[in-house]
Amino acid sequence: MFQRLKNLVKEVKWRAGFTPLCSVCGERQGKHYFGTIEIPRGKGEHIKVGETTFGDVLNTPMDVVKWTGEKEQVEYFECEKCFKGEED
Ligand SMILES: [Zn+2]
Repeated sequence: MFQRLKNLVKEVKWRAGFTPLCSVCGERQGKHYFGTIEIPRGKGEHIKVGETTFGDVLNTPMDVVKWTGEKEQVEYFECEKCFKGEED
């Protein structure tokens, strides 16, 4: 409930002239909002906690890691181009 309210406030701010940049390319204005994500911040390290193979698609084991340091919550936006996976 509170999360929904917070998102609503953000949306209103956004429409009122708050112009977030795309989190992928950082160049164009974000048009698709994915909510908040956590990114590593400050000192810490990625420790291996497991392995995954992404099913049989890649058939290559990949490490699953966990960040030990602080995290920062950021708003994640993507512009129209990045959202569609288009290259410049
Ligand atoms: Zn972009």
